[in-house]
Amino acid sequence: MLQNGFDVTGFFFNPNIHPREEFEKRRDTLSQYSLLKNFPVIYSDVYMEKEYSAKGEKDCSFCYEIRLEATAKLAKEEKYDCFSTTLLISPYQDHEKLKEIGQRMAEKYGIPFFYRNFRPEFRRSQALAKELGLYRQKYCGCTYSIP
Ligand code: SF4
Repeated sequence: MLQNGFDVTGFFFNPNIHPREEFEKRRDTLSQYSLLKNFPVIYSDVYMEKEYSAKGEKDCSFCYEIRLEATAKLAKEEKYDCFSTTLLISPYQDHEKLKEIGQRMAEKYGIPFFYRNFRPEFRRSQALAKELGLYRQKYCGCTYSIP
């Protein structure tokens, strides 16, 4: 969707995806997809062997914050025009919280946060992944979200 109007670079930063095999599956799937769709991706290998959370329980705000902070910082350093997050396509994530944190990071690093509600495309994205034979995650990511 973003390739229609933007020159997109992906950034894989998922330090709290557990277990490590799941982290690797998601990373490798992004790599497959980026080759199919022809866009570059920057990969972060930051990984926390132990689950971490400021509260010692599921803390999505904290999780959003570390992701958006790393993205804003990198985007600014590498002179991109703006930054965003794939979390915005998920019907399970809190858009108001994402907007608030994205805006805060935009101010902190001096680079705009691009917001769009991608949720209406969620089903289509799932169908596309299936059609392309890509791995689809079964849970959000951290140990607290493993069913
Ligand atoms: S449930 Fe998902 S968004 Fe919330 S803390 Fe876990 S990985 Fe992050």
